[in-house]
Amino acid sequence: MTSKLWFVFALICSLATVQAPKPSDPGVTVSARARQIHDSAIVVDTHADTPQRFLDEDFDIGSMDAKDIGHISLDKARRGNLGAEFFSIWVEPVTNQGHYARHTFDLIDSVYEQAARHPDRMMMAFSVADIERAHREHKLAALMGIEGGHSIENDIHLLRDYYRLGVRYMTLSWSNTNEWADSSGDIDDAKVQHHNGLTDFGKQVVLEMNRLGMMVDISHVADKTFWDAIATTKAPVIASHSSSRALVDAPRNMTDDMLRAVAKNGGVVQVNFFNGFDDADFRKAMEAQTKDQAAAVQKYVEQLKAEGKTVSYVDEDRIEREWMAKIPRPPLKSLIDHIDHIAKVAGIDHVGLGSDFDGVSGATPQGIDSAADLPKITQALLDRGYSARDIKKILGENLLRVFGEVERVSREMQAASPKSAP
Ligand SMILES: [Zn+2]
Repeated sequence: MTSKLWFVFALICSLATVQAPKPSDPGVTVSARARQIHDSAIVVDTHADTPQRFLDEDFDIGSMDAKDIGHISLDKARRGNLGAEFFSIWVEPVTNQGHYARHTFDLIDSVYEQAARHPDRMMMAFSVADIERAHREHKLAALMGIEGGHSIENDIHLLRDYYRLGVRYMTLSWSNTNEWADSSGDIDDAKVQHHNGLTDFGKQVVLEMNRLGMMVDISHVADKTFWDAIATTKAPVIASHSSSRALVDAPRNMTDDMLRAVAKNGGVVQVNFFNGFDDADFRKAMEAQTKDQAAAVQKYVEQLKAEGKTVSYVDEDRIEREWMAKIPRPPLKSLIDHIDHIAKVAGIDHVGLGSDFDGVSGATPQGIDSAADLPKITQALLDRGYSARDIKKILGENLLRVFGEVERVSREMQAASPKSAP
């Protein structure tokens, strides 16, 4: 992650760790009614980058450190009634070149290790039934999604191994185009070899994911990749952490046509909490400082290298957080506007939560400082006139429906053709 290009990618996605704690938005008070609705729901979040912390910082999810500024801990999850978290297995594609699979396995291992440390409060989960069981047992259900198809190293056997280890979604690309799927992150970069969407192998990957029962995630992909995935898949897709392009013109956000296509496909769009995707003013300010920010990171990296030190991800993130903190945080309304827009365009059955917690350099809206603040979203939806029934769909039921449908399609495909693809 040393080039300016990668720095820009990093801005628009997964970053781990530390920022100074900010006071919660005094404007949001959670009423007893909102709390009751929120606490009776199975709350599912489909994207948190906490595994980078597990691996690089040896962060313990059981931490009660009040000074820790991470978004996720078991305590924060409990306070926010977070029932299931999909931990992101994200392999930075430049620094890990040549060993994507190894780093993927290390991150998977880090999630299992956390669950093993806290068997009373957390459990690995691989199915809708597991998520429901964890809910009954008052434990956090820990699931895993791979963020970026480069993790499979162009090998369908590795894809199957990841499924066997418990991975239940894969984002076809991260911000980097891989050898079979174009990304929105570098689609305008002439130096990158593109494929006009998904290659034939990419389509085979999608079908094998359908057969295995791994959700196809279209967050981050280029527009043509999205349409190819929609045309190929036999099961509903998810956008694990994506917002609306009609509201904020980011290439990684989804157009209204895409939202309608996901609705038709039966899938779900899980709204990203990152201010750079949800608030136009924040995005403008972010773009205005991109050059200076990149230069500051570059200078720091060069300084460390000159001292013979290796540059860790956490090192770079520390600087990026400082720059993000220069921009005022938008109100919670910005995030709620995206949920509302997607609910209107795609329908109430096709929207959910994909926070990107621990992956956005602290740039979440006012009042959303960690998973403990999730009830404020329920309050804000209630204030906009959403019914308890609709709020529960957004909080998790929609995702559980899609996951269940993916499981059903998998059983059907395996019954029809038990043999794996070569
Ligand atoms: Zn991402």
